[in-house]
Amino acid sequence: MSKLDLLLVKPGRQELLYGKLSHTLHAVEPPLWAGLLAGYIRKHGYSVRIIDAEAGPLSAGEIAGKAAELNPVLAGVVVSGTNPSASTMNMTGAAEILDALKSEAPQIKTVIAGLHPTALPERTINETGVDFLCQGEGFYTLRSLLEALKSGNGSQDYNIEGLWYRKSDRVFSNPRAPLIKDLDGELPFAAWDLLPMSRYRAHNWHCYGNIKRRQPYAVVYTSLGCPFNCHFCCINALFGGPGIRRRSPEKVVVEIDLLVNRYGVRNLKIMDELFVSTESHVAKICDLIIERGYDLNMWAYARIDTVRKKLIGKMKRAGINWLAFGIESAAAGVREGVAKKFDQGKIKKTVEMTRAAGINVLGNFIFGLPDDNYETMQETLEMAMDLKLDYANFYVTMAYPGSKLYRDAVAKGLKLPGSWHGYSQFGEDCLPLPTKYLTSAEVLKFRDGAFLKYHLDPGYLDRMEKKFGRETTEHIKEMCRINIRRKHV
Ligand code: SF4
Repeated sequence: MSKLDLLLVKPGRQELLYGKLSHTLHAVEPPLWAGLLAGYIRKHGYSVRIIDAEAGPLSAGEIAGKAAELNPVLAGVVVSGTNPSASTMNMTGAAEILDALKSEAPQIKTVIAGLHPTALPERTINETGVDFLCQGEGFYTLRSLLEALKSGNGSQDYNIEGLWYRKSDRVFSNPRAPLIKDLDGELPFAAWDLLPMSRYRAHNWHCYGNIKRRQPYAVVYTSLGCPFNCHFCCINALFGGPGIRRRSPEKVVVEIDLLVNRYGVRNLKIMDELFVSTESHVAKICDLIIERGYDLNMWAYARIDTVRKKLIGKMKRAGINWLAFGIESAAAGVREGVAKKFDQGKIKKTVEMTRAAGINVLGNFIFGLPDDNYETMQETLEMAMDLKLDYANFYVTMAYPGSKLYRDAVAKGLKLPGSWHGYSQFGEDCLPLPTKYLTSAEVLKFRDGAFLKYHLDPGYLDRMEKKFGRETTEHIKEMCRINIRRKHV
């Protein structure tokens, strides 16, 4: 049997990241980026395996044991999710896996890829002792690296775009590789067949009304990147700057066909940072899904200023049952302070229009933005309650590497989390940024109180019971009984 070329690992350590929420509440998402990289590398003739430590769940030691058996030419950890919070917090798990690999199978070359390593390449190499690092998307870089390693010249200098590496205790870098231009033509589907598809689980709220049917679950992307540049967001660091590339609707829907027909998927997340933007793109995808008559339960992100009345009924008919809006703050000035601008008057109108089309509305809010004080945070909570959202995600402000807030925090010498898992919103070590007026502890305490106030509000529970039934409201109450431990409150 010929030697395996590439092993990709998605890191885990969910109990560090989600505490008690890790047992049932949080979603377990198929690792899209590991799947895409695997699909691309396989298309170019290399053999690939994926281990998902989160879905396993598998410890670093178990992964290293499996890697030693498989003995690939290259073992890589992919530290990417597709939202701002998903990469940095996974660095603790990633570093543990790389450590275990080095002690269990030191002959295997290692590589790391993803958003956080892209944002802090030199630091990541120095902290983890990894042999190689892919900066950026990684498709071309990983392929060229495998080609170089398989050609057998291990002592060469690597002139590979996007590659950082260590040689004689020094870190060397190359310019970034170009982005994939033709997503349809160059990227095959994610390698779903290499993933444990039966283990993935949707977010709890995504399945309100059918809370016991959170599996199977999958994700699909229709575009990569985002044209905006909010200061708290690091998503575009992976791509080198703001911008959006789209797949053709036809190709997206053929991938959905595969997920539905081969894996029995009904719960589906559209991963795009900004799905609802170009009308023709969204309309065509919806039309193609409606034609097929699938009974999907989907959710997607939208902006308050990009949802059009014309489109919304079609989205519902296609099975988009939830839209998530990044409202962030009730105070326009606080939003503008982080470059998130939209017309204040549109918030209520868009939420009502969405609800009127039968789509459930999720609001994303961030407490502790730089200009926040108690009054503005209270306004935000009151706005969320007033909007009668079906779910409210309350976040605290984190200085994610790759974001402007991170660069500002470093320049100002603000205290940042002492571990990478301290960037997890729900972990015990979570340490948000302070604001101009409030400490990190004050922000965190406000957030945890606001979450309970919103979701245990009798008016909210009553609405949820009418809409989704008793089982869902019991679930919500159960969720609120879980005590999130916080070291920094
Ligand atoms: S709109 Fe802002 S927060 Fe959302 S993905 Fe784009 S840059 Fe990030």
